[in-house]
Amino acid sequence: MPATSTTTSPTGSTLTHLEGSLSGRRYDADRLWGPDPADGRPLLARYDLARAAETLKRETLARRTGMGLWRWRELLPVRDWASVRHLGEGSTPLLDAPGLGRELGLPRLLLKAESLNPTGSFKARGMAVAVARALELGAGSLVAPSAGNAGGALAAYGAAAGLPVTVVMPADAPSVNQREVVACGAELILVEGLISDCGRRAAEIAATTGAFDLSTLKEPYRVEGKKTMGFELAEQLEWELPEAVVYPTGGGTGLVGIWKAFGELETLGLIGSLRPRLYSVQAEACAPIVRAFERGERFAEAWEGASTSAAGLRVPSAVGDFLILDALRESGGSAVAVPETELAPMQRRAGSAGAGYVSLETAAALAGTRMLIESGRIESGERVVVFDTGAGYKSESC
Ligand SMILES: *Cc1c(COP(=O)(O)O)cnc(C)c1O
Repeated sequence: MPATSTTTSPTGSTLTHLEGSLSGRRYDADRLWGPDPADGRPLLARYDLARAAETLKRETLARRTGMGLWRWRELLPVRDWASVRHLGEGSTPLLDAPGLGRELGLPRLLLKAESLNPTGSFKARGMAVAVARALELGAGSLVAPSAGNAGGALAAYGAAAGLPVTVVMPADAPSVNQREVVACGAELILVEGLISDCGRRAAEIAATTGAFDLSTLKEPYRVEGKKTMGFELAEQLEWELPEAVVYPTGGGTGLVGIWKAFGELETLGLIGSLRPRLYSVQAEACAPIVRAFERGERFAEAWEGASTSAAGLRVPSAVGDFLILDALRESGGSAVAVPETELAPMQRRAGSAGAGYVSLETAAALAGTRMLIESGRIESGERVVVFDTGAGYKSESC
């Protein structure tokens, strides 16, 4: 038998190993891992940053176009291009929002337009990278619980990779998310309950069928895709980070990823030690991170009876809670809970002020920004970046 010919096309990834975020233990990166076997907490990808610095430079980056988040390939885990299915994820614009900025009393407001990603939310970044890496490491099928957008993104990237996908969603997840999962050929399972109940169901499916479980922060690579938001932010602001970043927080991979990105960029010598203050925004009826922040706790107790119309924020407990809380505190930021009654009105206000049709999660972040200005935690002259995490039409139910 002739040897199978395999053409390789290396990405230049400098991934070296995985590290337990709490245990500090070291694991082989080139096999599939769930959470840290030592404590069930997230595993984080580590890179040879000195080697990455040799090729990942301001000038080389400027020449890399048309490949979205894969421009940051040295600091991504995928080793060979053969596993990558680029649907357009990443390289979203950082937009001035003068009308909305005037309304909020924040003339230097900027919106990072994550709603322009494939599948209409930043979840595409995480799934693009995690699905590519799962394919590379030999996963045969995929499963994940989702409040909405993660499921749609998983279904889209799973289909592109040719891997069967199962998505477990709460029955009250936005119908638009349910339809996109089915349209992308995935199996949709609806559960009467919250995302945490869906997580248990997904774990059972993984255990019985051998599907790889892509739950938030229970595998190491979705956060790697999401950290590219932090890379782009630094580059788009000419390597001078803003004073504050406001992020609508559910499972927290967005914030955790951005914080990790800044650390890596500093080691590479691309930015200095100045960091923005990070602010986490949650909905008043599901605010476990805000409560833990205010109590001075490092871990967040699960929230009972979680409810909010912003599906992406309906996350009663996060495995990466301490990573979120550490980042908020180290950055000098904080966490704020917004009343449910402010979400829909803020969505209309943002649209009328020329910021487009934003999701309810983005509206929550904007309402939180207003509260932070009113309480003096953000000053009107500061440069503030609000993450517009999803498009308005992704919040719709019928
Ligand atoms: C998932 C999601 C969030 C929450 O992001 P995390 O990184 O899970 O905290 C915010 N907005 C939208 C639109 C989402 O889909």
